[in-house]
Amino acid sequence: MVYQYVLGGVLVSLLGSVFFMIINSTLSGKKKAEDVSEGVNGNEFVRMQPANGDCLPEIEKSTDVVIVGAGVAGAALAYTLGKEGRRVHVIERDLSEPDRIVGELLQPGGYLKLIELGLEDCANESIDAQKVFGYALYKNGNDTKLSYPLENYTSDIAGRSFHNGRFIQRMRERVATLPNVTLEQGTVTTLLEEKGIIKGVMYKNKAGEEMRSYAPLTIVCDGCFSNLRRNLCTSKVDSPSCFVGLILENCDLPHANHGHVILGDPSPILFYPISSTEIRCLVDVPGTKVPSVANGDMAKYLKTVVAPQVPPQLLKAFLAAVEKGSIRTMQNKSMPATPLPTPGALLLGDSFNMRHPLTGGGMTVALSDIVLLRDLLRPLTDLHDAHALCEYLESFYTLRKPVSSTINTLAGALYKVFCASPDPARQEMRDACFDYLSLGGICSYGPVSLLSGLNPRPMHLFLHFFAVAVYGVGRLMIPFPTPQRVWLGTRLILGASGIIFPIIKGEGVRQMFFPATIPAYYRAPPAPLENKLKAF
Ligand SMILES: Cc1cc2nc3c(=O)[nH]c(=O)nc-3n(C[C@H](O)[C@H](O)[C@H](O)COP(=O)(O)OP(=O)(O)OC[C@H]3O[C@@H](n4cnc5c(N)ncnc54)[C@H](O)[C@@H]3O)c2cc1C
Repeated sequence: MVYQYVLGGVLVSLLGSVFFMIINSTLSGKKKAEDVSEGVNGNEFVRMQPANGDCLPEIEKSTDVVIVGAGVAGAALAYTLGKEGRRVHVIERDLSEPDRIVGELLQPGGYLKLIELGLEDCANESIDAQKVFGYALYKNGNDTKLSYPLENYTSDIAGRSFHNGRFIQRMRERVATLPNVTLEQGTVTTLLEEKGIIKGVMYKNKAGEEMRSYAPLTIVCDGCFSNLRRNLCTSKVDSPSCFVGLILENCDLPHANHGHVILGDPSPILFYPISSTEIRCLVDVPGTKVPSVANGDMAKYLKTVVAPQVPPQLLKAFLAAVEKGSIRTMQNKSMPATPLPTPGALLLGDSFNMRHPLTGGGMTVALSDIVLLRDLLRPLTDLHDAHALCEYLESFYTLRKPVSSTINTLAGALYKVFCASPDPARQEMRDACFDYLSLGGICSYGPVSLLSGLNPRPMHLFLHFFAVAVYGVGRLMIPFPTPQRVWLGTRLILGASGIIFPIIKGEGVRQMFFPATIPAYYRAPPAPLENKLKAF
């Protein structure tokens, strides 16, 4: 055991030196990004007239942005743009409080974004939200606690977990307070396009009438089942597994105010508080099919396969929840962001980009995108020059990468590593990951800060991932390397590469690691039309 730690220590220090060299270069890259953002925010501008203002339909002149969907992304975006003085028309299919098992744990990085947007009181005591300070990880009866690195923040900063519907409803209430934002119930059916430019949407209002809403910018936030993303991105949706959701009552988590991840068989099981009296349990079931809830197969599966893996403190409440029968299921999807930049329209939230929900990163990515988009749009009072705006907003796709690609890659990689496998190399990787995270210090602090959204650095993620693999190989060489162990170690490294490289490829190697080499990264806001005309 001591040898393992010594070897682990040596390997980690070797990786450490490479690590710091790369961090240096990453930091200088980040500084550049901050400089560019500051340039964008600080720009002066002159309000420009619409190019063909007389021909615009009346309603287009009175709306700056149409937003489709008022879920997590749409509601936060509507409030943000409304507060910036934009005239916003939000169309949401169902304005009643959603009741679903998604979006219940907001990472501290996401909570910081919520503060930046002025929406933090939507995730506090008024909805009985619970603070989350980190995770507890379980494997074969052993557990390890991984705390978020919150030492440098005020006591309010932590993760938040809550009923998703309550959170969304609070944000919608805030949206409704803004006089320049119209929040309407309706189902958007089509994007209206003219000469390659999206001019607005067609929708059915509450009364079932077909309506149109026009604006120079349409932002589609219609979630993971998006019908409208088709023409705005090259969507390749993967469905790796489903979550089966239960609510446990009258019990306490072994580690209060922590998310609990059981490295179960066949795949992870999660527990986290969603109110002061309720604990959410999400059981991952690989594939696209789950046992039938209706015919009792699901209850049988939960009792025979899952219950033996549930920590003893939670078992009674777990079985009671299964007995009670309110079992929900939801397909987990992942989809890298592959936009087709289209004048007049933009995708945001799950309609644009999805990752496995194991690490609870979706809302953090969406909120971070909204902060970025707000800052990019801030210098522009008029959004009518659709082509110029579209070209300018291409920078969004690169500037969002540090946060989104770190969270997306970690979610995809961790899900694969945490699943049980009959392959001994994959088992070694899973064991190595648990033991690496249990080492403490930078080995737990590093990965958790990536997961929390507090350290959006893809290179750190890459290094930690391979540090785990090298740690796993190192352990195999003790007490001495036999040919079988060397072969297993080789397969472990190959397996690790097979997990992470396809995800990185999906994210875009250059955008992820070398964003400063992408020309769009430096794009400045388009000059006001008046200035362009003066130049003639
Ligand atoms: C099982 C599961 C668990 C998850 N857990 C977490 C978690 O713990 N933490 C986390 O950060 N993320 C989590 N996520 C991801 C998170 O839920 C999403 O990233 C987040 O909800 C995305 O917000 P959104 O606004 O894009 O979509 P949504 O919140 O789904 O909102 C979409 C909205 O659009 C509306 N809409 C759809 N179509 C139309 C239409 N045609 N016209 C008008 N309105 C329309 C819908 O009614 C809905 O209100 C989880 C995901 C899943 C699947």
